[in-house]
Amino acid sequence: MNRTGIVFVVSGPSGAGKSTICNTVLKTEPNLRFSVSCTTRAARRGEIDGEDYHFTTPSGFQDHVDKGDFLEYAEVHGHMYGTLAAPISDDVDRGLDILLDIDVQGVSHIQKAIDLRASHLTNAICYTLILPPSREELERRLRSRGTEAEATIKRRLEAVEFELGQWRCYDYLVTNNHVDLAIEDLRRIILAERMKIARMPGATPWN
Ligand code: 5GP
Repeated sequence: MNRTGIVFVVSGPSGAGKSTICNTVLKTEPNLRFSVSCTTRAARRGEIDGEDYHFTTPSGFQDHVDKGDFLEYAEVHGHMYGTLAAPISDDVDRGLDILLDIDVQGVSHIQKAIDLRASHLTNAICYTLILPPSREELERRLRSRGTEAEATIKRRLEAVEFELGQWRCYDYLVTNNHVDLAIEDLRRIILAERMKIARMPGATPWN
């Protein structure tokens, strides 16, 4: 490996299509690994422990907090979510690029941490916000998933205004009008960032 890995952070309101876009890109893009977060929320139908999330009890989550295991963590829609730091540093050191699916609070925590500690991630972290075509479409998509209770849907819709208001924290915005185009947009963002890194002496974009 000629370079350290790039961290691709992707956020977006629930229902913006982020998971579909990220999962497709992860399947087809070489040298890109998904960062599996810890969460205290219950697994949804079809979700696999250790692949989609590390499903954790509140006390297990608190243990990680106490031990300082998280790069960032936040309460999102009434549950705790956190990104484990160690697997990311290991992969980045090995030259693997990482994709993080985290909310806007997580982004703000990482950006503050990087400012304070001048982390080695500074040169190789890229933030993308995935937007729905409209609020109406977002609501339609959330309801059509059929996995969430009405109260949860309401809470997620209320969070949208705050989430969209944070767009300045991001390097790229992708509007998911057509999922195939949004997938292509994310692929191009990844290529563009890899090309930037490739300008470093001895590096290549594909590594
Ligand atoms: P969901 O429950 O629908 O899988 O995710 C809810 C929200 O939590 C999404 O916006 C997702 O990006 C966010 N999320 C998932 N993992 C993490 C994490 O490790 N940290 C933070 N801050 N947010 C996360």
